[in-house]
Amino acid sequence: MKISVNGCTQLLLCLSVLLFTQLACATNPQEHLKPVIATSVSPITNMVRNIAGSHIRVTGIVPDGADSHTFDPVPSDAKTLQSADLIIVNGLDLELPIIKLAEKVRKNSAPVLQLGNLALKREEWQYDFSFPREHGHPNPHLWLNIELVMRYVDIIRENLIALDPAHQSSYDMNAATYLTKLQKLDQAIFGCVATIPENNRKLVTYHDSFAYFAPRYGMTVIAAVQPSDFSEPSPQEVISIIKQIKDAGVPAIFGSEVFPSKIMEQIAREAQVKFIDQLSDDELPQPPQNSFIGMMVANIATMTTALGGQSNCMSQVDASNIPF
Ligand SMILES: [Zn+2]
Repeated sequence: MKISVNGCTQLLLCLSVLLFTQLACATNPQEHLKPVIATSVSPITNMVRNIAGSHIRVTGIVPDGADSHTFDPVPSDAKTLQSADLIIVNGLDLELPIIKLAEKVRKNSAPVLQLGNLALKREEWQYDFSFPREHGHPNPHLWLNIELVMRYVDIIRENLIALDPAHQSSYDMNAATYLTKLQKLDQAIFGCVATIPENNRKLVTYHDSFAYFAPRYGMTVIAAVQPSDFSEPSPQEVISIIKQIKDAGVPAIFGSEVFPSKIMEQIAREAQVKFIDQLSDDELPQPPQNSFIGMMVANIATMTTALGGQSNCMSQVDASNIPF
């Protein structure tokens, strides 16, 4: 075989790159020694990253913008779950396919932590139109209630320390910093709602994600339009929702980009209210507000403005991430 001068140069180049890569791994083993956590939806991933800082590798499984309720893991997710030392999900049946796969492939020593099941007693689980009791799956959207998120943070902190006791002080400090930010967010939400005229403190949403949010902040969910099988509502249900909106006298109804719905536009037109399709339950905003807190800031500013409140009510909230 004849190797040209050019081919030889390329071969040498390839060998050097390979050698360099191996050397780099050998001289920087820290990255490979870090514990690994697999998480599910973006808000949970972001909370875990904020508390873990740079000491843990955190991989989220459900891509931003995907429908978390119908998400089915792909083969690369099995690898992520297989390599994890700890698996953290929301629970309350949101990620059943992920949990099922995790039970098959996880390391024996890797616990599956279901935050919602630990944060809320079973008798406090909510069932409603989109999550009816007879189907047996509760409404899982606990993370839109910041008091419950603060419970999530305590559970995450305790489990990170159990996983990696050497960095306890760092996890304690990050959790304390994050809790301070969450307290400010929680107070700001109360402040925003206070600026909404009392008769407008009502929500009509497409996706049913505000069941735990509304009771904490003095709002009422009048209707959530999406049926439990994630199809569109029947004509009778649409007529009934339009009547509810007219009776309640709300100025706006809400959807999200993850669940586009022509039905909501039709309902808004017939009820003569605004349709705002910008609420998010698990898709984080683009940088620099690329955080769970940033998602809530955007949600509450949108909701408050559309319902007649003051738009600057979230301006003091710090939505930045703790470096990770
Ligand atoms: Zn949802």
